[in-house]
Amino acid sequence: MNIINILNKEFHDKDDIIALLSISDESELELLRAKAEEILFKHTGDKVFLRGLIEFSNYCVNDCNYCGIRKSANVGRYTLKMQDIIDSALWSASQGYGSAVLQSGERRDEAFVDFVCEAIRNIKEKTKSVILPEGLGITLSVGEQSEETYRRFFEAGAKRYLLRIESSNQDLFSKIHPKEQSFENRYRCLKSLQSIGFQTGTGVMIGLPGQTIEDLANDVLFFRDNNIDMIGMGPFIPSADTPMNAEIYPWDKERNLSLALKMIAVSRIVLKDVNIASTTALQAIKDGAREDGLRFGANVIMPQQTPQTVRKDYQLYDGKPFLSESLNDLSIGLRIRVESIGRKLALNEQGDPLHFFNRNSKF
Ligand code: SF4
Repeated sequence: MNIINILNKEFHDKDDIIALLSISDESELELLRAKAEEILFKHTGDKVFLRGLIEFSNYCVNDCNYCGIRKSANVGRYTLKMQDIIDSALWSASQGYGSAVLQSGERRDEAFVDFVCEAIRNIKEKTKSVILPEGLGITLSVGEQSEETYRRFFEAGAKRYLLRIESSNQDLFSKIHPKEQSFENRYRCLKSLQSIGFQTGTGVMIGLPGQTIEDLANDVLFFRDNNIDMIGMGPFIPSADTPMNAEIYPWDKERNLSLALKMIAVSRIVLKDVNIASTTALQAIKDGAREDGLRFGANVIMPQQTPQTVRKDYQLYDGKPFLSESLNDLSIGLRIRVESIGRKLALNEQGDPLHFFNRNSKF
Protein backbone atom coordinates (compact mmCIF):
# COMPACT_ATOMS: atom_id res chain seq x y z
CA MET A 1 0.00 0.00 0.00
CA ASN A 2 1.35 3.43 -0.79
CA ILE A 3 2.08 6.01 1.89
CA ILE A 4 -0.87 8.28 1.04
CA ASN A 5 -3.31 5.41 1.49
CA ILE A 6 -1.75 4.49 4.83
CA LEU A 7 -1.83 8.09 6.02
CA ASN A 8 -5.51 8.37 5.15
CA LYS A 9 -6.51 5.33 7.19
CA GLU A 10 -8.39 5.95 10.43
CA PHE A 11 -6.91 2.94 12.24
CA HIS A 12 -3.31 1.80 11.78
CA ASP A 13 -1.96 -1.69 12.37
CA LYS A 14 1.64 -2.68 13.01
CA ASP A 15 2.51 -3.03 9.30
CA ASP A 16 1.20 0.49 8.63
CA ILE A 17 3.27 1.90 11.47
CA ILE A 18 6.40 0.10 10.27
CA ALA A 19 5.85 1.49 6.77
CA LEU A 20 5.52 5.04 8.11
CA LEU A 21 8.59 4.74 10.33
CA SER A 22 10.57 3.38 7.37
CA ILE A 23 9.96 6.43 5.16
CA SER A 24 13.20 7.80 3.75
CA ASP A 25 12.03 9.74 0.72
CA GLU A 26 11.90 13.52 1.41
CA SER A 27 8.53 14.09 -0.26
CA GLU A 28 6.97 11.20 1.68
CA LEU A 29 8.49 12.56 4.88
CA GLU A 30 6.76 15.88 4.21
CA LEU A 31 3.46 14.03 3.65
CA LEU A 32 3.93 12.31 7.03
CA ARG A 33 4.73 15.61 8.75
CA ALA A 34 1.78 17.41 7.16
CA LYS A 35 -0.65 14.63 8.20
CA ALA A 36 0.64 14.71 11.77
CA GLU A 37 0.19 18.48 11.84
CA GLU A 38 -3.34 18.20 10.40
CA ILE A 39 -4.32 15.69 13.09
CA LEU A 40 -2.68 17.77 15.81
CA PHE A 41 -4.63 20.88 14.80
CA LYS A 42 -7.88 18.93 14.48
CA HIS A 43 -7.65 17.14 17.84
CA THR A 44 -5.68 19.46 20.14
CA GLY A 45 -5.33 22.80 18.31
CA ASP A 46 -2.22 24.76 17.37
CA LYS A 47 -1.18 25.88 20.86
CA VAL A 48 2.13 24.90 22.44
CA PHE A 49 1.84 24.18 26.16
CA LEU A 50 4.70 24.98 28.50
CA ARG A 51 6.01 23.05 31.49
CA GLY A 52 8.85 24.74 33.36
CA LEU A 53 11.35 21.95 34.04
CA ILE A 54 12.88 22.01 37.53
CA GLU A 55 15.54 19.30 37.94
CA PHE A 56 15.56 19.56 41.70
CA SER A 57 18.00 16.75 42.62
CA ASN A 58 20.47 14.50 40.80
CA TYR A 59 20.84 11.90 43.57
CA CYS A 60 19.76 8.50 42.27
CA VAL A 61 19.73 4.98 43.68
CA ASN A 62 19.79 3.41 40.21
CA ASP A 63 22.54 2.69 37.74
CA CYS A 64 20.81 2.74 34.34
CA ASN A 65 23.45 1.85 31.75
CA TYR A 66 22.84 4.92 29.57
CA CYS A 67 22.44 7.67 32.16
CA GLY A 68 24.96 10.41 32.92
CA ILE A 69 23.74 10.86 36.51
CA ARG A 70 23.52 7.15 37.37
CA LYS A 71 24.58 6.41 40.92
CA SER A 72 28.11 5.39 39.92
CA ALA A 73 28.66 8.44 37.65
CA ASN A 74 31.25 10.91 38.76
CA VAL A 75 29.18 14.12 39.01
CA GLY A 76 28.71 16.72 41.72
CA ARG A 77 25.53 15.84 43.59
CA TYR A 78 22.93 18.42 44.61
CA THR A 79 19.41 18.84 45.91
CA LEU A 80 17.89 22.27 45.56
CA LYS A 81 16.73 24.04 48.69
CA MET A 82 12.96 24.22 49.08
CA GLN A 83 13.04 27.99 48.57
CA ASP A 84 14.97 27.60 45.30
CA ILE A 85 12.32 25.20 44.01
CA ILE A 86 9.54 27.59 45.00
CA ASP A 87 11.38 30.52 43.38
CA SER A 88 11.81 28.56 40.14
CA ALA A 89 8.10 27.71 40.15
CA LEU A 90 7.14 31.32 40.85
CA TRP A 91 9.35 32.44 37.99
CA SER A 92 7.64 29.91 35.68
CA ALA A 93 4.26 31.23 36.79
CA SER A 94 5.33 34.83 36.21
CA GLN A 95 6.28 33.91 32.61
CA GLY A 96 2.81 32.46 31.98
CA TYR A 97 3.97 28.82 32.00
CA GLY A 98 0.85 27.03 33.22
CA SER A 99 2.67 24.00 34.61
CA ALA A 100 5.92 22.87 36.16
CA VAL A 101 7.71 19.52 35.96
CA LEU A 102 9.53 18.40 39.10
CA GLN A 103 12.17 15.93 38.01
CA SER A 104 14.94 14.15 39.88
CA GLY A 105 16.92 10.96 40.09
CA GLU A 106 15.17 8.12 41.86
CA ARG A 107 15.00 7.84 45.67
CA ARG A 108 12.40 6.05 47.71
CA ASP A 109 13.35 6.96 51.29
CA GLU A 110 10.87 8.69 53.58
CA ALA A 111 12.79 11.98 53.73
CA PHE A 112 12.70 12.23 49.94
CA VAL A 113 8.99 11.43 49.68
CA ASP A 114 8.20 14.00 52.40
CA PHE A 115 10.34 16.59 50.63
CA VAL A 116 8.56 16.05 47.30
CA CYS A 117 5.12 16.26 48.95
CA GLU A 118 6.12 19.48 50.66
CA ALA A 119 7.45 20.94 47.40
CA ILE A 120 4.18 20.11 45.63
CA ARG A 121 2.07 21.70 48.39
CA ASN A 122 4.28 24.80 48.51
CA ILE A 123 4.19 25.33 44.76
CA LYS A 124 0.41 24.94 44.62
CA GLU A 125 -0.08 27.33 47.51
CA LYS A 126 2.40 30.02 46.48
CA THR A 127 1.46 30.15 42.80
CA LYS A 128 -2.30 30.37 43.40
CA SER A 129 -2.40 34.14 43.43
CA VAL A 130 0.14 34.54 40.62
CA ILE A 131 -1.43 32.52 37.88
CA LEU A 132 -4.57 30.42 37.92
CA PRO A 133 -7.06 29.95 40.77
CA GLU A 134 -5.66 26.42 41.24
CA GLY A 135 -2.01 27.40 40.92
CA LEU A 136 0.57 25.83 38.60
CA GLY A 137 -0.17 22.38 37.26
CA ILE A 138 2.45 19.96 38.53
CA THR A 139 3.94 17.01 36.69
CA LEU A 140 6.20 14.71 38.65
CA SER A 141 9.01 12.66 37.20
CA VAL A 142 10.73 10.91 40.09
CA GLY A 143 10.71 7.33 38.89
CA GLU A 144 9.45 4.04 40.26
CA GLN A 145 7.70 4.32 43.63
CA SER A 146 5.24 2.30 45.68
CA GLU A 147 1.52 2.75 45.07
CA GLU A 148 1.22 4.36 48.49
CA THR A 149 3.87 6.94 47.61
CA TYR A 150 2.16 7.75 44.32
CA ARG A 151 -1.06 8.26 46.28
CA ARG A 152 0.68 10.68 48.63
CA PHE A 153 2.03 12.67 45.68
CA PHE A 154 -1.46 12.81 44.14
CA GLU A 155 -3.06 13.93 47.39
CA ALA A 156 -0.40 16.61 47.78
CA GLY A 157 -1.57 18.10 44.47
CA ALA A 158 0.43 16.57 41.59
CA LYS A 159 -1.95 15.46 38.85
CA ARG A 160 0.46 14.31 36.14
CA TYR A 161 3.30 11.81 36.20
CA LEU A 162 5.96 10.95 33.62
CA LEU A 163 7.55 7.52 33.81
CA ARG A 164 9.36 6.43 30.67
CA ILE A 165 9.29 2.75 29.82
CA GLU A 166 12.39 3.40 27.64
CA SER A 167 11.52 0.39 25.45
CA SER A 168 8.45 -1.85 25.32
CA ASN A 169 10.77 -4.66 24.20
CA GLN A 170 11.51 -6.45 27.47
CA ASP A 171 14.83 -7.88 26.22
CA LEU A 172 16.01 -4.44 25.22
CA PHE A 173 14.83 -3.02 28.55
CA SER A 174 16.94 -5.67 30.32
CA LYS A 175 20.00 -4.86 28.24
CA ILE A 176 19.99 -1.16 29.13
CA HIS A 177 19.22 -1.57 32.83
CA PRO A 178 20.95 -3.43 35.64
CA LYS A 179 19.21 -6.63 36.72
CA GLU A 180 17.73 -4.98 39.84
CA GLN A 181 15.40 -3.01 37.56
CA SER A 182 12.63 -4.91 35.85
CA PHE A 183 10.22 -4.15 33.05
CA GLU A 184 7.47 -5.72 35.15
CA ASN A 185 7.92 -3.22 37.94
CA ARG A 186 8.07 -0.26 35.55
CA TYR A 187 4.82 -1.47 34.01
CA ARG A 188 3.22 -2.01 37.41
CA CYS A 189 4.10 1.58 38.29
CA LEU A 190 2.42 2.90 35.14
CA LYS A 191 -0.73 0.96 35.97
CA SER A 192 -0.70 2.22 39.58
CA LEU A 193 -0.42 5.79 38.37
CA GLN A 194 -3.39 5.34 36.06
CA SER A 195 -5.53 3.65 38.70
CA ILE A 196 -4.85 6.48 41.17
CA GLY A 197 -6.03 9.01 38.58
CA PHE A 198 -2.83 10.58 37.34
CA GLN A 199 -2.62 11.92 33.82
CA THR A 200 0.01 9.39 32.87
CA GLY A 201 2.95 9.89 30.56
CA THR A 202 5.59 7.56 29.25
CA GLY A 203 8.09 7.38 26.43
CA VAL A 204 11.00 5.56 24.89
CA MET A 205 14.55 6.10 23.72
CA ILE A 206 14.86 6.09 19.96
CA GLY A 207 17.90 4.62 18.21
CA LEU A 208 19.05 2.34 21.03
CA PRO A 209 21.73 -0.19 20.05
CA GLY A 210 19.95 -3.31 18.77
CA GLN A 211 16.54 -1.61 18.48
CA THR A 212 14.59 -2.36 15.30
CA ILE A 213 11.86 -0.44 13.48
CA GLU A 214 9.47 -3.18 14.60
CA ASP A 215 10.44 -2.43 18.23
CA LEU A 216 9.53 1.22 17.70
CA ALA A 217 6.24 0.26 16.05
CA ASN A 218 5.50 -1.88 19.11
CA ASP A 219 6.31 1.13 21.30
CA VAL A 220 3.61 3.17 19.53
CA LEU A 221 1.16 0.29 19.97
CA PHE A 222 2.17 0.07 23.64
CA PHE A 223 1.20 3.76 24.06
CA ARG A 224 -2.15 3.10 22.37
CA ASP A 225 -2.97 -0.19 24.06
CA ASN A 226 -2.16 1.22 27.49
CA ASN A 227 -4.16 4.40 27.06
CA ILE A 228 -1.20 6.69 27.68
CA ASP A 229 -2.06 10.40 27.95
CA MET A 230 1.32 12.03 27.45
CA ILE A 231 4.40 11.04 25.47
CA GLY A 232 7.98 12.21 26.05
CA MET A 233 10.47 10.53 23.71
CA GLY A 234 14.01 11.37 22.81
CA PRO A 235 16.80 10.11 20.59
CA PHE A 236 19.41 7.89 22.20
CA ILE A 237 22.49 10.05 22.84
CA PRO A 238 25.43 8.28 24.49
CA SER A 239 26.88 9.66 27.69
CA ALA A 240 30.68 9.36 28.08
CA ASP A 241 30.79 8.22 31.71
CA THR A 242 28.49 5.21 31.23
CA PRO A 243 28.65 1.61 29.98
CA MET A 244 26.76 2.76 26.87
CA ASN A 245 29.29 5.41 25.83
CA ALA A 246 29.92 6.33 22.20
CA GLU A 247 33.16 4.36 21.96
CA ILE A 248 31.40 1.12 22.75
CA TYR A 249 28.16 2.08 21.00
CA PRO A 250 28.94 4.39 18.07
CA TRP A 251 25.75 6.16 17.08
CA ASP A 252 24.32 7.84 14.03
CA LYS A 253 23.07 11.30 14.99
CA GLU A 254 21.19 11.96 11.78
CA ARG A 255 19.43 8.60 11.87
CA ASN A 256 18.38 8.96 15.50
CA LEU A 257 17.08 12.48 14.94
CA SER A 258 15.15 11.50 11.84
CA LEU A 259 13.68 8.46 13.58
CA ALA A 260 12.71 10.56 16.61
CA LEU A 261 10.82 13.03 14.41
CA LYS A 262 9.06 10.18 12.63
CA MET A 263 8.12 8.64 16.00
CA ILE A 264 6.53 11.94 17.06
CA ALA A 265 4.57 12.16 13.79
CA VAL A 266 3.42 8.54 13.86
CA SER A 267 2.44 8.75 17.54
CA ARG A 268 0.35 11.82 16.75
CA ILE A 269 -1.32 10.11 13.79
CA VAL A 270 -2.09 6.93 15.75
CA LEU A 271 -2.91 8.41 19.18
CA LYS A 272 -4.46 11.71 18.07
CA ASP A 273 -5.52 13.51 21.29
CA VAL A 274 -2.49 12.93 23.55
CA ASN A 275 0.07 15.52 24.58
CA ILE A 276 3.49 14.96 22.99
CA ALA A 277 6.59 16.79 24.17
CA SER A 278 9.27 18.05 21.85
CA THR A 279 12.20 17.24 24.11
CA THR A 280 15.48 18.99 24.76
CA ALA A 281 17.34 15.86 23.59
CA LEU A 282 16.24 16.68 20.03
CA GLN A 283 17.84 20.08 20.36
CA ALA A 284 21.04 18.45 21.63
CA ILE A 285 21.51 16.85 18.22
CA LYS A 286 20.65 19.85 16.08
CA ASP A 287 19.80 23.48 16.73
CA GLY A 288 16.17 24.00 15.72
CA ALA A 289 15.23 20.32 16.17
CA ARG A 290 12.92 21.15 19.08
CA GLU A 291 10.89 23.33 16.69
CA ASP A 292 11.02 20.48 14.17
CA GLY A 293 9.47 18.27 16.87
CA LEU A 294 6.55 20.73 17.06
CA ARG A 295 6.24 20.73 13.27
CA PHE A 296 6.06 16.93 13.34
CA GLY A 297 3.12 16.87 15.76
CA ALA A 298 4.33 17.71 19.28
CA ASN A 299 2.41 20.26 21.35
CA VAL A 300 4.41 20.57 24.59
CA ILE A 301 7.77 22.13 25.41
CA MET A 302 9.54 21.87 28.74
CA PRO A 303 11.70 25.00 29.08
CA GLN A 304 14.67 24.70 31.41
CA GLN A 305 13.99 26.28 34.83
CA THR A 306 16.75 24.59 36.82
CA PRO A 307 19.03 27.22 38.37
CA GLN A 308 22.08 27.82 36.17
CA THR A 309 24.48 26.94 39.00
CA VAL A 310 23.54 23.23 38.99
CA ARG A 311 22.35 22.66 35.41
CA LYS A 312 25.67 21.15 34.32
CA ASP A 313 25.27 18.42 36.97
CA TYR A 314 22.00 17.18 35.50
CA GLN A 315 23.11 15.75 32.16
CA LEU A 316 21.51 12.41 31.39
CA TYR A 317 23.32 12.47 28.00
CA ASP A 318 26.23 14.41 26.50
CA GLY A 319 25.77 17.76 24.75
CA LYS A 320 22.67 18.88 26.65
CA PRO A 321 21.77 22.38 25.37
CA PHE A 322 20.90 25.56 27.32
CA LEU A 323 23.44 24.93 30.12
CA SER A 324 24.60 28.51 30.45
CA GLU A 325 21.75 30.73 29.21
CA SER A 326 19.88 32.83 31.77
CA LEU A 327 16.21 32.04 32.37
CA ASN A 328 15.29 35.38 30.81
CA ASP A 329 17.23 34.66 27.61
CA LEU A 330 15.71 31.20 27.44
CA SER A 331 12.21 32.58 27.82
CA ILE A 332 12.61 35.28 25.15
CA GLY A 333 14.33 32.84 22.77
CA LEU A 334 11.57 30.30 23.25
CA ARG A 335 8.84 32.72 22.22
CA ILE A 336 10.74 33.76 19.11
CA ARG A 337 11.43 30.17 18.13
CA VAL A 338 7.83 28.98 18.59
CA GLU A 339 6.32 31.95 16.79
CA SER A 340 8.80 31.51 13.92
CA ILE A 341 7.06 28.26 12.96
CA GLY A 342 3.60 29.82 13.12
CA ARG A 343 2.53 28.31 16.45
CA LYS A 344 1.16 30.05 19.53
CA LEU A 345 2.40 29.71 23.08
CA ALA A 346 -0.45 28.83 25.44
CA LEU A 347 0.11 31.22 28.34
CA ASN A 348 -1.44 30.78 31.79
CA GLU A 349 -2.99 27.46 30.77
CA GLN A 350 -2.28 24.13 32.41
CA GLY A 351 -2.76 22.31 29.10
CA ASP A 352 -4.10 18.99 30.31
CA PRO A 353 -3.98 16.17 27.75
CA LEU A 354 -7.43 15.82 26.16
CA HIS A 355 -6.90 12.07 25.95
CA PHE A 356 -7.16 11.83 29.73
CA PHE A 357 -10.67 13.29 29.69
CA ASN A 358 -11.72 11.46 26.55
CA ARG A 359 -10.68 8.06 27.95
CA ASN A 360 -12.40 8.71 31.28
CA SER A 361 -15.64 9.87 29.66
CA LYS A 362 -15.95 6.45 27.95
CA PHE A 363 -16.64 4.71 31.26
S1 SF4 B 1 17.67 7.30 34.13
FE1 SF4 B 1 16.71 8.06 36.00
S2 SF4 B 1 16.61 6.24 37.33
FE2 SF4 B 1 18.10 5.77 35.72
S3 SF4 B 1 20.06 6.34 36.60
FE3 SF4 B 1 19.31 8.13 35.45
S4 SF4 B 1 18.24 9.39 36.91
FE4 SF4 B 1 18.52 7.36 37.82
